[in-house]
Amino acid sequence: MLRRFEAHIQPWDMIVVGGGATGVGVAIDAASRGYAVLLLEQSDFGKGTSSRSTKLAHGGVRYLEQGNIGLVMEALKERGLLLQNAPHLVHDLEFVVPHYDWWETPFYGLGLKLYQLLAGKYGFGATRILSREETLAHLPNLKTEGLRGGAAYYDGQFDDARLLIHMAATAAEQGATLLNYAEVTELTKDSQGFVNGVVARDLETGVQLHTAARIVINATGAFSDRLRLQAEPSASPMIAPSQGIHLVFDSSFLPGESAVMVPHTSDGRVLFAIPWHGHTLVGTTDTPITTATLEPIALAQEIDFILSTAGQYLTKAPTRDDVLSVFAGIRPLVRSRTTTTAALSRDHVIQIDRSGLLTICGGKWTTYRHMAEDCVDQAATLAQLPERPCVTHHLRIHGFHESAKQLGPTAVYGSDASEIGKLIAADASLGGLLHPSLPYVKAEILWAVRHEMARTVEDALARRTRALFLNARAALEMAPAVAALMAQELGWDSATRTKQLAMFCEVASNYALHS
Ligand SMILES: Cc1cc2nc3c(=O)[nH]c(=O)nc-3n(C[C@H](O)[C@H](O)[C@H](O)COP(=O)(O)OP(=O)(O)OC[C@H]3O[C@@H](n4cnc5c(N)ncnc54)[C@H](O)[C@@H]3O)c2cc1C
Repeated sequence: MLRRFEAHIQPWDMIVVGGGATGVGVAIDAASRGYAVLLLEQSDFGKGTSSRSTKLAHGGVRYLEQGNIGLVMEALKERGLLLQNAPHLVHDLEFVVPHYDWWETPFYGLGLKLYQLLAGKYGFGATRILSREETLAHLPNLKTEGLRGGAAYYDGQFDDARLLIHMAATAAEQGATLLNYAEVTELTKDSQGFVNGVVARDLETGVQLHTAARIVINATGAFSDRLRLQAEPSASPMIAPSQGIHLVFDSSFLPGESAVMVPHTSDGRVLFAIPWHGHTLVGTTDTPITTATLEPIALAQEIDFILSTAGQYLTKAPTRDDVLSVFAGIRPLVRSRTTTTAALSRDHVIQIDRSGLLTICGGKWTTYRHMAEDCVDQAATLAQLPERPCVTHHLRIHGFHESAKQLGPTAVYGSDASEIGKLIAADASLGGLLHPSLPYVKAEILWAVRHEMARTVEDALARRTRALFLNARAALEMAPAVAALMAQELGWDSATRTKQLAMFCEVASNYALHS
């Protein structure tokens, strides 16, 4: 990628700042239309919010309740396109809404039927009403006291960081140049005050990269205002950051294949308990915060809230000691006069400042493709680039595989799974597990370094594999072996290896709960 960057002497058609779902989505869209695109990410791809979501490709049942039919329909269509273009990473999941009041069955039954109908030809499965016994058959750990029955509906589930890595590969295949660990530190302007390029710092070498573009796209999520203020110190802030956390437990808290959806928690939000990679993922919260940070930390009250709400519904109630991992993410919500962030729209917004800097923010993971289409349409017009139609409706995501499930533990790699198999065939020791509690093998680390731009121990354990998000202690125990493999691949000396391990331990301490 650095060689590709250096070989490009002309100004880029577009520079995208930010390597989350939004930025990488824009890079795919722009490159596949034939524009020359550079994407710069200050940390690793997905280090921001895009690896910290609930991992649902969904229309958002909650937005239906808020009456936002347009948003729900658009997201349901995008959910369908995601399944079509990345079937190795997206699958349908049955959600059960348990009912404890007489009015809940007709109310949620009808609402969820409408949710199914709004998906039209992109439907995932039929909503149906469940008896008390059927509800318990789906959710054996559900509290029975006062339980009347439930409603079952379908939505999509995916592995967010894995999809993002495959999206980055797709963008690269389409001709985009993507650099991680390249922080944009400055925006450059022409004599009329229009943004015409960026200065970035290669965080590995400290070298400054100066590069020009017809248009710069700010896709920095919760950090959007920082870049906007750099371009125009008088710009008024547009982001109202809000934190959401998840707790991860072993699978005994949610035996079976169905997820639970609690439509109304005491803070007015939706709570999900979801089976994910052989574990149980529970979340989330909505806590307004003042400043966005790259490694947000779950607050004690958020952890208590999730534990107590889960305990109201599950007979085997989780405690702090059961938490295998906790992670926090920041929603890049767009400001309004409303005071609660839970009520803010999840629609995306495109803002063009007087300096010509185009910012795209808000929206959801699920709608990244549609957001990118909208963004590139506007960016091309603003930059007076030749008009070219969007082609991502049917563009397959890297790794596309229609029956990946049969590939076993490496199913999320889709068509790359066979390449990982070849590494193991050549050296059987690479098939060894890195930890007895998690399914990851050594070959995956080599693959991540050689083909997926993993540069740090954290990249390998948090976003190429999901070890840190599933079991923080296990990830810490795996780290020395991972560092040894990476040191060999990347030629690290022993000081670099020690530093890498120390950096990982520091980050990982935020994911392990101390009782
Ligand atoms: C708790 C929670 C649960 C969610 N669950 C879901 C869900 O289930 N389904 C769904 O559809 N959506 C969900 N979302 C929403 C979704 O995750 C976000 O909308 C999406 O990930 C935002 O992506 P992004 O690319 O805009 O931001 P980010 O992923 O944060 O990416 C921005 C990137 O910009 C980089 N950056 C910042 N400054 C610079 C700079 N100066 N130079 C270079 N790079 C820079 C950052 O490092 C970061 O990687 C959830 C969000 C949260 C918080």
